[in-house]
Formats: sequence, structure tokens, C-alpha cells
Amino acid sequence: MHTVRTIVCKLTPTPEQRVEIDATLKAFALACDFAAESARSLGFTNKVKVQHACYREIRETFGLSSNLAIRAIARACAALKVSAKMHSAFAPTSIDYDARIFSFHEWNWNFGLTLLSRRVKLTTKLGERQKAALKGRKPTSAVLVKRRDGAYFLHVQLTDEAPESIETKGTIGVDMGVKNLATTDDGENFSGADVDACRRKYSQARKTCQRKGTKSAKRKLKKISKREARFRANENHVISKRIVAKAKDTASAIAVEDLGGIGQRTTARKADRSRMKGWAFYQLRQFIANKALAEGIPVIPVDPRNTSRTCSECGHCEMANRKSRNEFVCKHCGFELAADWNAARNIRDRGKVMCPNVGVVDTGGRIPVETTGKPVLASPRR
Ligand SMILES: [Zn+2]
Repeated sequence: MHTVRTIVCKLTPTPEQRVEIDATLKAFALACDFAAESARSLGFTNKVKVQHACYREIRETFGLSSNLAIRAIARACAALKVSAKMHSAFAPTSIDYDARIFSFHEWNWNFGLTLLSRRVKLTTKLGERQKAALKGRKPTSAVLVKRRDGAYFLHVQLTDEAPESIETKGTIGVDMGVKNLATTDDGENFSGADVDACRRKYSQARKTCQRKGTKSAKRKLKKISKREARFRANENHVISKRIVAKAKDTASAIAVEDLGGIGQRTTARKADRSRMKGWAFYQLRQFIANKALAEGIPVIPVDPRNTSRTCSECGHCEMANRKSRNEFVCKHCGFELAADWNAARNIRDRGKVMCPNVGVVDTGGRIPVETTGKPVLASPRR
């Protein structure tokens, strides 16, 4: 199992190098278009087959080095596999690099990249964090990116063997929600108030843009969505970091709701539902999984059904237990707790049942819970 970290490095090309990079970006995008067109007409997206069909022509037509041509074909095939609609055109904004066409020189923090006509050395502007991450490494893949403001970056991928899974002593249950983005079984809350404020702030602007429907309105809409997504991603990074740090400190596994169930779990109002199901939950869970994997912390997906209406003290399950969105009061034993906190405790207990590293499972006489699968380590990011 591997973990992949991406280090974003700012490049500082000379004016001549800029021209060369732009020409290469353009040629690469055109080559992608050409490869996609060939794949479409051939009717398959297997990169080896497509390569057989158009490799020579791509090299001759666009002047790309052999490995850049192969990367362009690979990208086109990958894009076609993802979207049935298929790309109309590739934008000249990024190029994939592998070990043969890219190198890293630690002594002066430069990168060597193959461009159209030759190999060039590009100087960088790196912070201490990036230098520390790159020190002593031999990265084997990277993506050259030109941003909208004209700045060039190299996204360097560092692949590591994931550490062995740690010996866990306990399990942390994490409940994900709207009001509280995440709640752990010890009652720690990560409020969604900031995210909600951000969403509200942009929601009016979005409505206006959608009504207008002009080209510039659509552009603005895209910008707003991106800004909001960045905000939420940042929140998710902060939360996942904190949860994984807590698991590490206490040598615990992390139990989270099984993703498939997140959309169906609640009886949320309709307005909430669209927010419930979204990618943000998937993202938070994914961030937790990625960070946990890098620390060797097992992540256990559990069946999320009824976690919000089951008493985490006596196991009694009834819809009426959930007094309101925020309050939980058990009809059977009178146990009271914040609803999210109670759910997190249930998730923890379900995780414990499934975690092989926990010696004695104390179910406390509770009703047995259904499990959704074996404890697994998160899949590595691609
Ligand atoms: Zn109870």
C-alpha cells in the first residue's frame, strides 16, 4: 500500500523558457486531442492499442519527445474512460511528466524538464516546507501546470510505502453532519457554522448568475463555486488532521460511517439533504482516510443505519429517541446527550466490534449490530 503526497513547487522560468513551455503545453494539448480523436474513431480507450495506432503520427505532427507523446496518449485515454460524453478539447494548461522526462536536482533545487526541442533546467522558488519534503528524494512523476494568472508550477508527486498498521488500543467514532461537520465520541465538535456562512454568502450571488445565464455570468458562477470548494476543502483538512492526530495520540483506530449510507442515513429536511449527500462528506472521509493511512491508523467503515436514533448507553433504538435535531433522550433509560455525540458513540462501538486489534469486545449487553465489512485500511490516493 502506498501513500502519495503532492508538493507544489513554483517555477521561475526565464522569458525564453516561458515561450518554450507555452509551446509545449499547446503541442501536448493538441496531441491529447489527436489521440482522443483516434481513440474515438477506433472505438477503444486502451492506451497500448491507441499508442499503436497513432504514436508515430503524434510525434511527427506535434514534435513531442517519445515520452511526452506517450503521456499525451495516456491522458487522452484516461479522460475518455472517465467521461462518456468525452472531452471536446484539451486545454493547454498542464503536462504529465514521468521519470524519463523530468528530474530533480537537490543541490540547487532545480528541475530538469523535457520541452519541445530540448531538456531545460528550471529554477524554483521553494519554501522551507517544500525543501524539507523534497530533501533526499527522487520523485518519479510530476505535473507541469500553468495557472490562469500565467504562473508556472510543478506538482511533484512523492510516493511512499504506507507504514505498517499500528497496534490500536481503542477506537474513535466520528459522526459527520451538517450542523457539526464532525463530532467525535468524546464529544469534540467541529462546527459547520463557518462553512454554512460561506455557503450563504455565495448562494445569493449564485442565484443571480444562474438567472442571467450569460457567458460572463457562467464564468462568475464557476469562480464562486471554486472559491467555496476551496474553503470547504480547507475546513476538511483542518478537521481530518485533528481527528487523525487524536487517533495517533491515543493509539486508536478511526470508525466512520460507511460512505454508501451517508446519503440515506438521515431524515433530513429536503433543504439539508442536498447538502448532506454532497462531495464534501466524501471529501472529509477521504481526507481522514488518507491522513490515517500515512500514519498507519486503521479506518473502519461501519453501517451508519440508525446511529442517530439508537441509545449509545442501553442500545434501545427508536425514532422518538431523537427529540430534535440536536437532542437525544433515550425513551428506555432516559440517557441524554447531544445527538451528534450520541451517534459518534454508536459509530465507535460498531467500529470496536469489527476491529481485530481490540482484544476484548465489550458490547455491554447491547443488541448486536449489523456490520458492513471487515476493517480495512483506506485505499491510497491515486
Ligand atoms: Zn437508553
